[in-house]
Amino acid sequence: MKCRSCGKPAQVELPQHNRALCASCYLAWVAEYTGRTIKRFRMIAPGERVLVAVSGGKDSLSLWSLLAEMGYRADGLYIDLGIDHDGYSARSLKRAQALAGSLGRELLVVSLEEETGLTIPRLRGKGARTICSTCGLVKRYYMNLAAYRGGYSCLATGHNLDDEASSLFSNVLNWDERYLSRQSPVSPGRGEKLIRRVKPLVHLTEKEVAQYAFLRGIDWIMEECPQVEGSTFHQYKDALNRLELHSPGTKRRFYDGYLRTGRKHFPAEEPPLRECGVCGMPTTLDTCSFCRLMARG
Ligand code: SF4
Ligand code: ZN
Repeated sequence: MKCRSCGKPAQVELPQHNRALCASCYLAWVAEYTGRTIKRFRMIAPGERVLVAVSGGKDSLSLWSLLAEMGYRADGLYIDLGIDHDGYSARSLKRAQALAGSLGRELLVVSLEEETGLTIPRLRGKGARTICSTCGLVKRYYMNLAAYRGGYSCLATGHNLDDEASSLFSNVLNWDERYLSRQSPVSPGRGEKLIRRVKPLVHLTEKEVAQYAFLRGIDWIMEECPQVEGSTFHQYKDALNRLELHSPGTKRRFYDGYLRTGRKHFPAEEPPLRECGVCGMPTTLDTCSFCRLMARG
């Protein structure tokens, strides 16, 4: 098979886009495609400083690499969750540091243990949340705090199409209106302290991002987080992968169809924000969820 752009031997097949490309045309296509998503949803303004949350995995490292390649003023943020099983957090940090070095960009590092005396394994079992839900809360809090403290007006995360489509699938199966109303590639900032969050990879599948990372020579941590629990989300991903195999483009049509026609039926609520009485960051209650979690820790 030949590359549809330049005629050299193709290395990557893209059935849902009905094309095959060689390595260099594929890398260029990913950048162009991501650039279109950024423009369509007005994610990042020209010249804006962006903080990219990097975990050491392929998605976030690819996103950082792509934004840097596209000329965005993108720095990285690594949140050390203190997952010490087989040195998981330390090895993930090394991947992020290596990419920071090769991109020549700054990497901010926040250590949960230094900030709070706690780690994700030690937070297991605190409160009613699952560990991944607790971890998500902690990461969202420190992403926003680090962006605010560092004077960044935009925070980018590496969620890909598989993540968003499977999350939409789950929210639709459960008719979870609250989450459906929030499902968006852009979460607008509010006031000075709630920073806009964007997901520039929402139109690329997990496989497409992995192919980008591989061809770009990015070294990422391949094993799954040792703290992960619950298989429901994986089942939704598997179900969508099976549908995609029979009908390429299903994930994209499902997710994009929601953005174009479904989302307007679930308007986002914007309850008034106030400052958390403990940490001063934005919240809808007297004390933010993070500070309530810490009070239990
Ligand atoms: Fe956190 Fe769960 Fe992700 Fe591990 S798998 S980093 S615990 S959200
Ligand atoms: Zn707080």
